[in-house]
Amino acid sequence: RAKSAGRGRVEVFDEELRRHLRETAELEVAIRHGLAAGDFVMHYQPIVDVGSGDVVGYEALARWDRPGHGVLAPAEFIPLAEQSSLIRDVGRWGLVEACGQIARWDAEGRSPVTVAVNISGRHLASPAVVDDVEVALSMTGVDPRRLVLEITETTFVHHPEAPARLQALRDLGVGVSIDDFGTGYTSIGRMQDLPASTLKIDRSLVAPATERGRRLLELVVHAAHATGLAVVAEGVETAEQLEAVRATGCDLVQGFHLAHPLPVDRLDVPRAPVPA
Ligand code: C2E
Ligand code: MG
Ligand code: MG
Ligand code: MG
Repeated sequence: RAKSAGRGRVEVFDEELRRHLRETAELEVAIRHGLAAGDFVMHYQPIVDVGSGDVVGYEALARWDRPGHGVLAPAEFIPLAEQSSLIRDVGRWGLVEACGQIARWDAEGRSPVTVAVNISGRHLASPAVVDDVEVALSMTGVDPRRLVLEITETTFVHHPEAPARLQALRDLGVGVSIDDFGTGYTSIGRMQDLPASTLKIDRSLVAPATERGRRLLELVVHAAHATGLAVVAEGVETAEQLEAVRATGCDLVQGFHLAHPLPVDRLDVPRAPVPA
């Protein structure tokens, strides 16, 4: 009896594994197809100067308008793409899309904002990433200073080659922003080794529940400034949080309190000032 129950479990496990593998394979095919069919779109969320309230840039956030499934958030396709070379295809698509948007805004006489693109650790770890960024810039004729690459802090834990690769990217002239800072294990001492221009403080640190938490936020902001990094507070959801991050000296803010990510046709990108 015990034996047959055990066998039953193995069969269930086998079946689940098979189903999982089949679903994964199907989703991979669907992502490839969706990229080719133009079903992926970028939404853009403003990054705002705390002092002036001006929009200085946007973060590009990928969405997949999957036929029959609605609009899917990155959590539904990025982790899977990251398990294979597919992440490079998604990454290249994102770079070209974002640079193309910078060029379109320029052609429309919009104010010269920066656009930040998220690059996955696996893509950054491959030497091809430098080519991918170069190609996107040259295809669209965009000034590298207008592009910022967002790399999550945990990338440096998993990919020891990441800092060297980042330096090669910095040499192209693009900005580099360390994303989700405070969720990984980068010591403050290591911040000086990161070839970054900006530190994005994770939402979990931006809404401190205690006085101790607030002081920690302050410490991170000071440390970032001391090492020459600009600081973005991400995930600012309330007026109180905006006040708190302003008080700690953050330079830039991003979050639902200021604006949600939106498709291009619903954004109000400021016009460039007319030269006198
Ligand atoms: P992230 O880079 O840290 O992006 C910020 C996420 O927080 C976005 O979620 C954004 O919509 C959300 N967010 C913005 N303001 C607020 C707020 O005030 N409150 C809360 N609760 N959330 C806020 P989203 O768009 O679902 O993206 C999730 C993650 O997926 C991103 O985190 C990024 O790591 C990744 N991702 C997005 N687009 C791409 C892409 O094109 N390529 C790669 N490799 N990863 C991407
Ligand atoms: Mg990001
Ligand atoms: Mg983040
Ligand atoms: Mg995040």
